[in-house]
Amino acid sequence: MTIDQFDFAGKKAIVRVDFNVPLDENGNITDDTRIRGALPTLKHILDKGGALIIMSHMGKPKGKVNAKMSLKQIVKPVSEALGVEVSFAPDCANAEKEVALLKPGQVLMLENLRFYPEEEGKPVGIDKEDPAYEAAKKEMKARQKGFAQTLASYADCYVNDAFGTAHRRHASTAVIADYFDADHKMLGYLMEKEVNAVENILNNIKRPFTAIMGGSKVSTKIGIIENLMNKVDNLILCGGMTYTFAKAQGGHVGNSICEDDKLQLALDIIKEAKEKGVNLVIGHDSVCGDKFANDAQQIVCESGEIPEGWEGLDAGPESRKAFAEAIKGAKTILWNGPAGVFEFDNFAAGSRAVAEAVAEATDNGAYSLIGGGDSVACVHKFGLEDRVSYISTGGGALLEAIEGKVLPGVAAIKGE
Ligand code: AMP
Repeated sequence: MTIDQFDFAGKKAIVRVDFNVPLDENGNITDDTRIRGALPTLKHILDKGGALIIMSHMGKPKGKVNAKMSLKQIVKPVSEALGVEVSFAPDCANAEKEVALLKPGQVLMLENLRFYPEEEGKPVGIDKEDPAYEAAKKEMKARQKGFAQTLASYADCYVNDAFGTAHRRHASTAVIADYFDADHKMLGYLMEKEVNAVENILNNIKRPFTAIMGGSKVSTKIGIIENLMNKVDNLILCGGMTYTFAKAQGGHVGNSICEDDKLQLALDIIKEAKEKGVNLVIGHDSVCGDKFANDAQQIVCESGEIPEGWEGLDAGPESRKAFAEAIKGAKTILWNGPAGVFEFDNFAAGSRAVAEAVAEATDNGAYSLIGGGDSVACVHKFGLEDRVSYISTGGGALLEAIEGKVLPGVAAIKGE
């Protein structure tokens, strides 16, 4: 079922959103992107005559009630965003009374799902090494089903619009879907957009395809790099991982961030790229600092000839040129992770060069997907958000999808 096909008139829809918004010490929202992201879905259901039961998690309360993470704090801003007074159910597992009162056009928000350990389905207060852990896990999984069934009992249909948690098999993101037949569960608009964006990158590739993987470490990106190796024409590896590659090839990297236990992995990646005909672009030169700070002294040198006492913090001018070249001619672009410590203005040139080349390629007709918190922050920092095709809201979920993993939240609805 799709959200556009379903007839919401007179129906109660339980919608999993990602309202895990950052709050300041007074409980005020500091960034409402996630709320705005869910509005098309929520408004559509109301416009079509449905009633809404909104559910979300906030923070990591670890299965316990925690007033600082109460969704009550965001009832007012959500009411304002929706233009409808939102009522609140303070106990998400005992909300029958509030649900019974709901009329078409009305909205009820449930309290933070993660106040119940059943939401995540992981046993609490017991160590993984404990011999009783497996039994506790089994028991919690059974309780998770009961919790999901209770949530499902509130509504006629289930909509999942929480891409940020789609890679988790939680009660509200996946298990609940077992209690609705295929005609009564669907993805929300945000989820549809995210899933289509990944589809474009993985299965609807216009060539050349350039992927840019940056950030601090190769170890956290290896799954994606492996999957992309079978798909891309150009693979730019930048940021901190540059120095693991430089050292693996016999270079000196001074104090640069470097994963000494991943040197062989780096050599394997270089070999695999050669075998597969992938143009691997790793920055030859770096801007180095004499400390990890914006006001560090700077030198530019080869990425494999960094003197002791210095560390590579950004891509050098030659590297930037090579990155831009591999990006500008591309027709499909994926960017995850900055090309340097972009948070320091003095070491942001590499990330800026990448962002500008991605924007230019997009102007010329490329499809560009930006994902992962830091590259999204880069695009915003350089004011280029309107010149890329799609900015994903998902961190872990996006990365797992690009690794080629099936996301439980999507599979639960699409039955894949
Ligand atoms: P990740 O979470 O792995 O995508 O890493 C993002 C972080 O990597 C950002 O905070 C960057 O500051 C950092 N980063 C990028 N390049 C470097 C570098 N050369 N040395 C240290 N950190 C870096």
